Amino acid sequence: MKEQPSQRKPLIYYCGIVSIVMLLLNIFVFPALLQPQVHEISYDEFVKMVDEGKVTHVSYEDSMMLFTASGDGGRPVFYKTGIWPWDDALTQRLLDHGVRFESVIPTQASPLISFLISFILPMAFFFLMGRLLMRSLNKRVGGANALQLGKANAKIYIEAQTGKTFQDVAGQDEAKEALSEIVDFLHDPDKYARMGARLPKGALLVGPPGTGKTLLAKAVAGEAKVPFFSISGSEFVEMFVGMGAAKVRDLFKQASEKAPCIVFIDEIDTIGKRRDNGGIGGGNDEREQTLNQLLSEMDGFDGKKGVVILAATNRPEILDPALLRPGRFDRRIPVELPDLQGRLSILKVHARAVKMEENLDLAPIARATSGASGAELANIINEAALRAVKMGRRAVSREDLEESVETVIAGYQRKGAVISDQEKKIIAYHEIGHALVAARQKGSAPVTKITIIPRTSGALGYTMQVEEDERVLLTREDALRTLATLTGGRTAEELVFGSATSGAANDIEKITKLARAMVTRYGMSSQFDMMALEGESSRYLGGDAYLQCSAETAARIDEEVNRIIKSAHETAREILSANMEKLHRLAGYLLEKETITGEEFMEILAQ
Ligand code: ADP
Ligand code: MG
Ligand code: ZN
Repeated sequence: MKEQPSQRKPLIYYCGIVSIVMLLLNIFVFPALLQPQVHEISYDEFVKMVDEGKVTHVSYEDSMMLFTASGDGGRPVFYKTGIWPWDDALTQRLLDHGVRFESVIPTQASPLISFLISFILPMAFFFLMGRLLMRSLNKRVGGANALQLGKANAKIYIEAQTGKTFQDVAGQDEAKEALSEIVDFLHDPDKYARMGARLPKGALLVGPPGTGKTLLAKAVAGEAKVPFFSISGSEFVEMFVGMGAAKVRDLFKQASEKAPCIVFIDEIDTIGKRRDNGGIGGGNDEREQTLNQLLSEMDGFDGKKGVVILAATNRPEILDPALLRPGRFDRRIPVELPDLQGRLSILKVHARAVKMEENLDLAPIARATSGASGAELANIINEAALRAVKMGRRAVSREDLEESVETVIAGYQRKGAVISDQEKKIIAYHEIGHALVAARQKGSAPVTKITIIPRTSGALGYTMQVEEDERVLLTREDALRTLATLTGGRTAEELVFGSATSGAANDIEKITKLARAMVTRYGMSSQFDMMALEGESSRYLGGDAYLQCSAETAARIDEEVNRIIKSAHETAREILSANMEKLHRLAGYLLEKETITGEEFMEILAQ
């Protein structure tokens, strides 16, 4: 990225240069300028000059003879030479040639000149350096005067050209379409002005992290070929009171000078939080001021000028309603997680940048990464490329890609992890338990891989299931099957070893979450029917559920969730008990191979 942060070059750097230059001037230049030169010559040369009648004045000082001779243009030149004590004829010789015995003091430069040189010159020098410094600073902060107090030393990133276009953004067609109107407007604001049409001043990109919101904003600037001012909301949260507001003012001032342009406020939720949570503490004044300034700037400037404000957030529900009313961020552009087709095209966009084996099919990778964001997909391609380099390959192979999917999902392989044979056995049974329960229920997603190689994320092994086609709906039957499959791991441990381990903690978390959602949000329990019992906040950040019911109901919810989980556990127990022989065979095989593919699994199962 070509972002140029507006930070200062260390001031000490300039001070250092100035000091060194001054020192050199003081040593070499000033003395020479202030004191006329005195040439030292040999005695015989002196005598010769006297004979030639060049010497005009002579005097004796500090056991040296100082004398002047007329130089070119009659200006006196100063000389000095040693004394030759035995030269008795010298006095007569000097008298003969009309040399005057007078004190010869090399004339100092006039007081005015010496004042100029030793005082004014350094001052002027410092002043010039200062000016230069200011100018270079100003350039960095994009025209603002860096010395003006209270001015924002905001990290405003200006990019003349972002270098990104809509081509870099795969999928997200709806978002692109909504934004292309803005691009058109920035191309030719007058066209809209003539029509009297007012374009929305701001558009808010909302969606989960890593879905390409920042990328989209840059692409808009790139498509419109206009400057791109970007600032992150977290940078507004400043130490000094009033600075945030100053930054906002500054940002909009700069932007209106450079119109048409795009102002992009990333993570706007940090400043745009609802203002009602003040209460007893009095709230966060600083943040409120910043927000108020933002609101008034948005109202204040003329939309026709061609400044478009984009903002991004993954927590739209906490934004202050004032930000969302017409005339401000009145347009909301959802940027959702990519579907199968979207994932495939994102993989393709990023695969263009790396060397891939020919005819490598990315579709299976897209299928295996349901729920992954654009950023994760970009990461998968990069991890695969890194792995290919590590393996000494010329191009990224399918194996690299598959391994990197697991790396991104579950972390790196923990090659060095020491796990005892007994524990390995338990893990193998656990994983086969999941796989068997899944395989024995009609309609489950097929098992594609089972492994007991531990990962850095803490997973000791896992079973991968990949849906054959993209699903957007979850049926009650799907949910129940998933629950049974998730309980399958622990169930296998119980059946074979007669005990339980902590290895199922992650399964338990997932089971509870799903069963709860069935009861409280999906209306899938007979007890409560279609009653909403829980709301959800931060939908884009994993979702935090909060109860919307009385305490008695809450207790009944817990009971109902428990009932569903118990019944899923029972289902798994039935399935595995009926397949004990397969369970042993498969677990033994997995223990030996550590990783088995879906095909191997199905083959043994079919025998
Ligand atoms: P967000 O701002 O929504 O959190 P970013 O725009 O910062 O996400 O995306 C991070 C990275 O993920 C991008 O730089 C890009 O490499 C990749 N990415 C995300 N979405 C897409 C997409 N739709 N097409 C191509 N690349 C994407
Ligand atoms: Mg972002
Ligand atoms: Zn498990």
